Amino acid sequence: MNFVSTRGGTAPVSFAEAVALGLAPDGGLFVPAELPDLRPRLAEWEALDYPALAEAFLGLFADEGAEADFRRTVRESLARFGHPEVAPLVRLGEGVSVLELFHGPTLAFKDFALQWLGRLYAGQVEREGRELAVLGATSGDTGAAAIHGLLGLPGVSLFILYPDGRISPLQERQMACTGDPAVFPLAIEGSFDDAQAIVKEAFGDEAFRREVGLSAVNSINLARILAQCVYYLWAALRFPAGERGRIRFVVPTGNFGNVLAGWMVARMGVPVAGFTVATNQNDILDRFFRTGEYRIGGVAPSLAPSMDIQVASNFERFLYYAVGEDPVRVGAVMADFRASGRVELPGIAGEEWASRASDDRAIGDLLRAVDRRYGYTADPHTACGFAWEPRAGEETVYLATAHPAKFPAAMEEALGRVPIHPTLEALRERELVKYPVPAAIGAVQAFVRSHRSRPAG
Ligand SMILES: *Cc1c(COP(=O)(O)O)cnc(C)c1O
Repeated sequence: MNFVSTRGGTAPVSFAEAVALGLAPDGGLFVPAELPDLRPRLAEWEALDYPALAEAFLGLFADEGAEADFRRTVRESLARFGHPEVAPLVRLGEGVSVLELFHGPTLAFKDFALQWLGRLYAGQVEREGRELAVLGATSGDTGAAAIHGLLGLPGVSLFILYPDGRISPLQERQMACTGDPAVFPLAIEGSFDDAQAIVKEAFGDEAFRREVGLSAVNSINLARILAQCVYYLWAALRFPAGERGRIRFVVPTGNFGNVLAGWMVARMGVPVAGFTVATNQNDILDRFFRTGEYRIGGVAPSLAPSMDIQVASNFERFLYYAVGEDPVRVGAVMADFRASGRVELPGIAGEEWASRASDDRAIGDLLRAVDRRYGYTADPHTACGFAWEPRAGEETVYLATAHPAKFPAAMEEALGRVPIHPTLEALRERELVKYPVPAAIGAVQAFVRSHRSRPAG
C-alpha cells in the first residue's frame, strides 16, 4: 500500500520509505492512501492469537514483494512480551475491563510500536548496506522503550539524550543498564527542552545527517500508529460480534498517538460506541474535546509524566480525517495554530468522543478508588482513565498503559505500598553505564561521530 502526507505536498511513498522518512518532506504526517475495510475479515480473525492477528492486520500495509520479511519483523517484535496473550483483556466487573498493554520489555505500551520500529530499521540497514545512528531525546518512557526496541540489532547504534538527574532512577536504569555496547544514554547537563533542542538541531544539519546515517525515534512515525491499531482490534474481537458496537475505549493520552490508532481501527469498519480521552493536568486535549478550541498551554510536571505534553503531535492525523481528508484545510489549520498557538474547530469531533482531565490530587484519589472498587492496582497514567465512569449499556475498556511498579514514589504516596516487577528488580543488580555530555550541539555531534560504528551483519 502507498502512503500520503496529511498536507498533500508529497508524492505517495511505499511503506519502507514512509518508515525511513518519519516526517513527510512537506512537513505533514504520513497516513495510508486509503484505509482497508476490515469487516469482511473479522469473522476469520476472531480465532487468531495475538501474533497471528498482528501479522494479518499489519500485512495489509506491506510493500509488494517484501511480505515475508515484513511478517517476520512483526512476529519478532512480539517475542519479548511476557504474557502469553501479549495484551490480556482483564475483566474487572460487569461491563468493565482493562486492556493491559504493559507486558513488553519496558513495561509500557510504547513497546508495541518500538519493538517493531527497531526491527524495521534493522531491515533497512540490511537492504541498504549502511549503518544507522538513531538519535532521540526523552523525559523517560520513550527513551527506555526505544533503547529496548533497538537492543542488539546489527548496524544500528542508538543515542538517547536525557536531562541528568531529572528522570526517575528506575527510568535511568532501564536505559543505562542494558549492557549493549551500541546503546548510549547521554546525560545532558540541562533540561529536557535543551535535549530536544539539540536533537532538532542535529536533524537540521543536513551534512551531519548524511555522514552518520541519522534516524529518529519519535511519536509520529507511521509504523508506531499501525502497531498500536492491533491491540484495539484484538480487544474488540474478544467480544461477540453483536456486542462490539457497545465498546468504549478509555485512553490515557499525551501525544494522541495511542487513541488515534483506536479511532483509525473504527474507521476501518470495527464498530465501537466511542473513545474517551483521559489527560492529566496538561489538558489541551480535554479542553479541545469539550470546547472545540485547540489551544497550547504551559506544561506542568505531574504524577503521570509520560502525558506531560501540551502539543499533541499526532493531532494532525486526526484533523486530516476529521476534515474529510482535505490536505489544503489541514495545512491551513496547522499554519494558523503555529502562528497563534490556538485554533477554533467547533463541531469537528463526532459524538463518539468524550474526555476527562485529572490533576495530581485526583490521580491519587483515583488510584485509591480503583484499588477499593475493583481490587486492581493501576499506574498513575492508567488512573487518569478511571475519571470516566462506565456508562450503562456500554462495555468500558480502560487501557492500562504502564505497569505500576515503574512509578514507586507515586504508588507509595497514594496506596502506601509499592508494587514490584521482576524485570525492574533485576536492574538493581546491573552496572549503570551513562555518558555525561554538555548540553551543546557540537559536543553531541562529536560523541555520535566517534561512537557510532557497530559492524553490520
Ligand atoms: C506515552 C504514554 C502515554 C501517552 O500516550 P500518547 O500516545 O502520547 O497519547 C500514556 N501512558 C504512558 C505510560 C505512556 O508512556
